[in-house]
Amino acid sequence: MASPLRDTVATPLPKPARPGAAPSAASAQTLVFAGSKQAFAHVPHTTGDDLEAIVQSARAQFEKGDWRNRTASQRADTLRRISTLILEHADELADLHTLETSIPIGQAKGMHIPRAAENFTFFADVLAGLAGETYDQSGRYLAIVTREPVGVAVLIAPWNAPLVLSSMKMAAAIALGNSIIVKPSEYAPLAVLRLCELVREAGVPEGVVQVALGPGHTVGKTLVRHPETDVVGFIGGTETGKKIMADAASGLKKVGLELGGKSANIILESADIDRAIDGSLLAIFAGNGEQCLAGSRIMVERGVADTFIEKFVARTRKLRVGDPFALETEIGPMAFEAHFQRLLAFAATAKNEDRYDVLTGAEAVPGMDRGYYFAPTVVLAKDNGNDLCQEELFGPFATVQIVRDLDDALERANDSDFGLAGYIWSDDLPSVMRARQALKAGTVWVNTPMTRDLRAPFGGYKQSGIGRDGIPGSIDLFTEEKSTLIPN
Ligand code: NAD
Repeated sequence: MASPLRDTVATPLPKPARPGAAPSAASAQTLVFAGSKQAFAHVPHTTGDDLEAIVQSARAQFEKGDWRNRTASQRADTLRRISTLILEHADELADLHTLETSIPIGQAKGMHIPRAAENFTFFADVLAGLAGETYDQSGRYLAIVTREPVGVAVLIAPWNAPLVLSSMKMAAAIALGNSIIVKPSEYAPLAVLRLCELVREAGVPEGVVQVALGPGHTVGKTLVRHPETDVVGFIGGTETGKKIMADAASGLKKVGLELGGKSANIILESADIDRAIDGSLLAIFAGNGEQCLAGSRIMVERGVADTFIEKFVARTRKLRVGDPFALETEIGPMAFEAHFQRLLAFAATAKNEDRYDVLTGAEAVPGMDRGYYFAPTVVLAKDNGNDLCQEELFGPFATVQIVRDLDDALERANDSDFGLAGYIWSDDLPSVMRARQALKAGTVWVNTPMTRDLRAPFGGYKQSGIGRDGIPGSIDLFTEEKSTLIPN
């Protein structure tokens, strides 16, 4: 059989078009700015021969070894250049990011872009510290353990924080010598596409960094099942994660799955209540509430419930909802129409069923129907076993349950299919330590919302995922370990 490998190692990155010369609907995604409902780009889907060429180029470049055979310090230098280029293009990247996600520009510039840059310097540092192992059986043999890149990595990302999430997987996979095929969300591909251009500009060989655009169930699925791809780094919804795991199983490929969440946010009587309110607002409403790690399931201990609820609802009402390009905006519109409609359906449930009391919101923002503006929402829920407390709503939508004590809170917190994160607010050390131990979640935040140390593993228990980003999870996902035994 003729080798499918080609000499060509570079494929051009896809080019989005401006509205006007609309390509056929079957092969392109029209992107709509959620703040105005206006189309702003048509993004071609990568299909057929183009998709095959991308896979073959990535494979050819990997086999050729131009990138993986560079020294660790050469690769680290390139990663640092990528980081510098990201910061030099911060305004451009932030504009694209806000246009396609509607995450407020202040958050894009203040958090998403710097974090994307940091992801590359972080893995440059990881390379500097990467060591092998030896086991010396004196007089018999020496065992040497080394790590090698896996091959062609498929990196599939969601729409809600495209730069932070894609860059974490990209940085790890290329640092460790793999070729990558990045499949951004069909709803938010542009900032990631631009990032991939910068990665090539920094000196990563073109064939090593490929981008495939289009829907997951076609383009993403083809990449996951393709015999020439070796490993899948996926971030997205739990149901999609299950499909990807099944598709990857046909080739027994390694998969890393970062999936959905529905994290409990526990406020005890021993908490500094004002601090808990500040932190909970951030935990729930940052990124328009469209975050896997949102602490959207509030559980407040009875003795402080009235005070907490009164203040938290008052602060929620004051959040500035508006144009995501305005610096003062705290919450932008929901990213796209289907997502907005889904939130409105949950809002109707909250209004219509007796087990909920709407404390604020649960509606489109009055007078703002030029965009998909959903009012920041707080709903009192009488128990934990209902849709609003069990499903990932993925918007500025918090539920509050009043709990008897810490035991009651922990029982409800763990009564969830998800296990991504948990938040606990308390100045009582024994309570904090008990919660830390009991919460079935990959990350527990104590008196702080969403801080990250990139060295610390990030990922989920239960249906929130398999594997971890960070150390050693990213290294395990994107390398194979090899043992070599030599008589001595
Ligand atoms: P999604 O699962 O619908 O899509 C994610 C990506 O998978 C997209 O690029 C999509 O095109 C692709 N995809 C869809 N079906 C596919 C298939 N069959 N094969 C291959 N690829 C496929 O998720 P979304 O709506 O884009 O993002 C929101 C979800 O992502 C939420 O559940 C959120 O919690 C989760 N998320 C998790 C993390 C984390 O770190 N755990 C971070 C951010 C978002």
